[in-house]
Amino acid sequence: VFISFEGGDGAGKTTQMAMLGQHLVQERHVSEDLVLTTREPGGTELGEQIRQLLLHGEHVNERAEALLYAADRAHHIATVVRPHLARGGLVLSDRYLDSSIAYQGAGRNLDPSQIGALSLWATEGLLPDRTILLDLPPDVLDQRRDAQDQDRLELAGLEFHAAVRSTFLDMARVEPERFRVIDGTQPREAVHAQVLEAVAEVLAR
Ligand code: C5P
Ligand code: MG
Repeated sequence: VFISFEGGDGAGKTTQMAMLGQHLVQERHVSEDLVLTTREPGGTELGEQIRQLLLHGEHVNERAEALLYAADRAHHIATVVRPHLARGGLVLSDRYLDSSIAYQGAGRNLDPSQIGALSLWATEGLLPDRTILLDLPPDVLDQRRDAQDQDRLELAGLEFHAAVRSTFLDMARVEPERFRVIDGTQPREAVHAQVLEAVAEVLAR
């Protein structure tokens, strides 16, 4: 089972993934080594190097940037995610292809459908069984983020983050079977309860 978490920076993806992982192991007695928590960009040694280049390196041309995200994803899926799924494992990913469609597509000037197609090529068509979108208004996200801990991309303006948010919401409307949208402004325990509801069906498969 493959579950991705999407949403703006500071939406609580990392926290909610950790809470879900803990629930699966402690309450549902899923073996710890079957629960893989991973992230994009990152998730592999090469991916962490690509992440470093993307977030802290020199400014990258937008098409080159899109290809670096796709390269990270191709390697991550082929070497980590697919092998884990093949073992019957459960993968929780902090971001996946929808982030590229939202950030490299709508956020930049690239065609979102081409970015989606690039990701599907990179991953040989792997889609998550469920995608959890933690939705928050950009100004709330802005207040949540630690000003000390902002990388280059997070410094982009509210307008950029508003475009990213509306793209995520549009995608959720187009694919209601895959997406569940959760109001990320709620307290984390309330969000967690809704995450459990959102994954119940795919975990029962
Ligand atoms: O959520 P995370 O900290 O991993 O995101 C790192 C940065 O990369 C964020 O600032 C996000 O805006 C950006 N990003 C991106 N395109 C992606 C994934 C992340 O621009 N496909
Ligand atoms: Mg971040």
